[in-house]
Amino acid sequence: MTTAPSILWFRQDLRLADNPALTRALAEPGPLLPLFILDDESFGSRRPGAAQRWWLHHSLANLDERLRALGSRLLYRRGAADQVLEALVGETGAKALFWNRCYDPQSVARDRCIKQWAKDRSLEVESFNGLLLKEPWEISTKERKSYRVFTPFWKALRQSYTPEALLPAPTKLPAVPQVSGDSLESWELIPEHPNWAEGFDEHWQPGDVGAAESLSSFLEDALNGYKALRDRPDRKATSRLSPHLRFGEISPRQIWQAVQNHLTLQGEDQADADKFLSELAWREFSYHLLFHEKDLAERPLRSAFADFPWRESSSDLSAWQTGSTGYPIVDAGMRELWSSGWMHNRVRMIVASFLVKDLLITWQRGEAWFWDTLVDGDPANNTASWQWVAGCGADAAPFFRIFNPITQGERFDPEGDYVRRWVPELAKLPNSFIHKPWAADPVTLAAAEVTLGRSYPRRIVDHSQARLAALDAYQQIKRERAA
Ligand code: FAD
Repeated sequence: MTTAPSILWFRQDLRLADNPALTRALAEPGPLLPLFILDDESFGSRRPGAAQRWWLHHSLANLDERLRALGSRLLYRRGAADQVLEALVGETGAKALFWNRCYDPQSVARDRCIKQWAKDRSLEVESFNGLLLKEPWEISTKERKSYRVFTPFWKALRQSYTPEALLPAPTKLPAVPQVSGDSLESWELIPEHPNWAEGFDEHWQPGDVGAAESLSSFLEDALNGYKALRDRPDRKATSRLSPHLRFGEISPRQIWQAVQNHLTLQGEDQADADKFLSELAWREFSYHLLFHEKDLAERPLRSAFADFPWRESSSDLSAWQTGSTGYPIVDAGMRELWSSGWMHNRVRMIVASFLVKDLLITWQRGEAWFWDTLVDGDPANNTASWQWVAGCGADAAPFFRIFNPITQGERFDPEGDYVRRWVPELAKLPNSFIHKPWAADPVTLAAAEVTLGRSYPRRIVDHSQARLAALDAYQQIKRERAA
């Protein structure tokens, strides 16, 4: 008699090591069917953005290769997850189903239904935490409420998180039952005409091997000094682990432990490690918010902002998206995003502030553009960070704190190297004007071969006036609230 197979449903956990659902599935006797579902159809599900789809393609190909090396393979199916699973259970007679949890409200609702359906059919069904250090419901305030402020959240996380032994990657995998699936290519996740992701390869290596390499080179080269340099976009001073974390090619537990081991071995500065771990905790905080604030993606957490007098301007939005606002640090960031699918955190804050406060365009437009163009576009981090910058989120930067794109550039890109890299038409400007080319005299501009309005755009707004308009709009909602 043949044993019925188990299904291992991969989602935001495209790795073999420290994967609790995989470890649990391997405890079952019989064949194992590793599955990935491209689910653009479940009610309310958000299609991964175009840059994420590029990453997903390569990450799945990597996972499949790793599975094949151990005697298994990845089955690709497309459709609403509940229907795909029902069909697959019918085709294979599977008796068990395992996955690691996702935390966005749509996935939570969908998974709950699938779990009930599986239980009703007497399937063994179990889900695990493979994405976070702690489950969002495991941390609460003294009043047993969810956190809305980061610092006490981080304190509680730090106190309650006890690193457990990491789960090893398997060295051999059970056979896969005979069952047909899609080809990865047929999903057309990679753009072709035009191939706007052409340049991504030079920046990234999707998959668990790339994740491990990013982590070890960060530990070797950049952890020391992280606290002081992490805000410098002109340096390679951060880990660039975000897309790997987004797709679960590495777990936060693995990162946490690697940092602790590194400290023990190298005796490097605890303050750098603490700062880095606190950034990982911001990710945990975003997931905490996403889980507890069901409409984080749709509505400002501070309800007063629902009445904010946003502007509609397709030309300003397009200038922002294409990196032609006339503000070099903003344009550099938006071009880095377009060319590499990623942007430095400090610059994300600057460009987001510019869209929301200088152009008075709602944060949702920026969030949607980031979602489509970031390889690390993350359901929790993206929305929570946009709300944070816009001043309407949990523990947000106050709206009246408006980033000045000139002084921010001068402070965090002091030699202008970052701007010169992504806005090469300004490369010959002296440092003193690299963040404000409009202030240069005609002789300096001519010597640098810059013609404003031709070789580089004129500013689409004057920051000091835009700042006053933003404060005015903010006063308006405050007045309306008070009335
Ligand atoms: P490191 O500094 O090396 O940090 C390590 C990890 O900690 C990151 O990979 C990330 O997982 C987490 N982390 C770091 N900073 C933050 C933060 N401020 N908030 C939450 N988690 C953080 N991050 C995403 O992963 N996906 C997004 O879609 C995303 N959208 C953003 C949108 C805006 C407007 C802003 C201001 C920030 C956004 N971030 C997002 C957060 C942050 O910019 C990135 O996580 C970070 O730049 C990734 O680079 P890194 O891996 O080198 O970070």
